[in-house]
Amino acid sequence: MSQPRSFKQELTGCFGFPVAENPTQAMIEPAYAAMGLDWRYLTVEVRPEGLADAVRGARAMGWQGFNCTIPHKVAVIAYLDRLSPAAEKIGAVNCVILKNGQAIGDNTDGKGFLQSVESVRPVKGLKAVILGAGGAARAIGVELALAGASHLTIVNRSEGRGRELADVIRSRTEVPADFVVWEGNFHVPAGTDLVVNATSIGLFPDVDAVVPIDTASLSKDMIVCDVIPNPPRTRLVRDAEAKGCAVLDGLGMLVNQGVIGIRLWTGLEPDPIVMRRALEMVL
Ligand code: NDP
Repeated sequence: MSQPRSFKQELTGCFGFPVAENPTQAMIEPAYAAMGLDWRYLTVEVRPEGLADAVRGARAMGWQGFNCTIPHKVAVIAYLDRLSPAAEKIGAVNCVILKNGQAIGDNTDGKGFLQSVESVRPVKGLKAVILGAGGAARAIGVELALAGASHLTIVNRSEGRGRELADVIRSRTEVPADFVVWEGNFHVPAGTDLVVNATSIGLFPDVDAVVPIDTASLSKDMIVCDVIPNPPRTRLVRDAEAKGCAVLDGLGMLVNQGVIGIRLWTGLEPDPIVMRRALEMVL
């Protein structure tokens, strides 16, 4: 017979709208269980007009913290007491810590990505190409720059968002950043160390969608990363592997950002292997 849960469970979770599926929940609760914590991670559908009340509610109920997903990552900032320096520069929050009556906004997307890259090569001095200029690209670009990347090229289909991200990186981190409009197959310049697909191209169910890059321009001294967590072995990951590149999948980034979130909320270290295994079972 399973043990009854204690009355006092610590609460964490994710606010989004709509939230059909949330892979984060699938990895966080098994991590808590493996840590011996009687904590919960609840996925809660919060409409944009209900966000202020939801944050007040989490504070009133003594939640330890929560993630924010689309469409709340920017709007939530208005209801927080302060931001981490990186979240301030990124201009978006995906992780809120509720501690000592304070609501502190952080951004773990880019940090999770950085940890994946650092497992292969130090970021300091790397020249990176980022495909995309949405929320994920913004977090990744700022964190790469803060970690010492020497140059960033932002490649995006819509010019306004792409130019804005290059401006944000230049002005808030002082790392040189260029913008290139994405037309046709992008040719990755020789000398690039890191190529990141930070678009939603290839995300389930559109698994056959092709990231428009010239795969002949990839060389084996490049690291190629895909943020798409589902499926982990995207077409880009497979093509880059065939060219002899080191590859990093979006599942690793997702696990890493979950690890950082749990660390921020609990002050304890979760087991990333338990989390990756739990995610692989649902994706
Ligand atoms: P956004 O909607 O903010 O940005 C999407 C980006 O993809 C934009 O730059 C958009 O270009 C580009 N894009 C979409 N479709 C195309 C296309 N057909 N051709 C060219 N460019 C395209 O999304 P997010 O940045 O929040 O998320 C992007 C991806 O990152 C998602 O798939 C998400 O699952 C993943 N992600 C993964 C995480 C992880 O931990 N592994 C964490 C966070 C996100 P344009 O500006 O021209 O529209």
